[in-house]
Amino acid sequence: MKLNIAWLYPDLMSTYGDRGNVIVLKKRCQWRGIDVEVKRISVQSKLDELQNIDLIFMGGAQDTQQEIVNKDLFSGKGEEIKKLINNNIPALFICGAYQFMGKYYLTAESKKLEGLGLFDLFTESSKVGEKRLIGNVMIKPICYCEEPNHNGTTKQSQSDCFSFDFAQLRNDKFEFVGFENHGGRTYLGDKSQAFASVIKGYGNNGEDRTEGIRYKNAIGTYLHGPILPKNPEIADWLIEKALEIKYKKKIELSKLDDSLEYKARSNMISRI
Ligand code: GLN
Repeated sequence: MKLNIAWLYPDLMSTYGDRGNVIVLKKRCQWRGIDVEVKRISVQSKLDELQNIDLIFMGGAQDTQQEIVNKDLFSGKGEEIKKLINNNIPALFICGAYQFMGKYYLTAESKKLEGLGLFDLFTESSKVGEKRLIGNVMIKPICYCEEPNHNGTTKQSQSDCFSFDFAQLRNDKFEFVGFENHGGRTYLGDKSQAFASVIKGYGNNGEDRTEGIRYKNAIGTYLHGPILPKNPEIADWLIEKALEIKYKKKIELSKLDDSLEYKARSNMISRI
């Protein structure tokens, strides 16, 4: 089996160790004998380089780089990315990338950068006197198959459920950790599904305790860190989904020894 991973704008959007996420995706595939090709896609890349992509990753950046990338997204690549996500290609968008998948991002200098509108959310930068949202963060992923429907009566069936398919999620002690540093405050639309609820830290906006978003097989989040080394379940979920979509069959990844990863996470939790 083989996965083609698109790493979007690695030269412009990769802060706080975001590149570590690509290393994790690659290694966790290789350790299982799955071939991986990482395609670095940036401003100079041609549109057809987004063909045959099985998994997408895009990291965060500061406003200056975001402005350059924003222009490029609207010269064709954005539409291709939208098509891929709407065709259930799994993706991980961090911080600045996450903001771009929403409706708009209002920068610290009050410039309105249009987003791709893939996620129902908008982001506005901190106003004068408001602080940036910085620090270690601990979140609990939301499992929607266990949540009541929006009308509060029935539960979603397993097949409707956009959930992580692993047992740990049903364990109340299961948490993800990361590091956030953003001036932007993100507000989800009414029907959007947050990725997680905030236990410690700020999350989307420091007000409503939501963190990130889930849409089809894409995750948007403010967690740098990078997020995947300390939370390998997310990496495996993305890999599994990518293989399932590509090979059109149920995939169960072989188990890896994650004792070091778990140690790193519990160490961080005890510090938080
Ligand atoms: N420029 C954005 C903000 O500060 C994104 C920052 C980032 O990606 N770390 O909100």
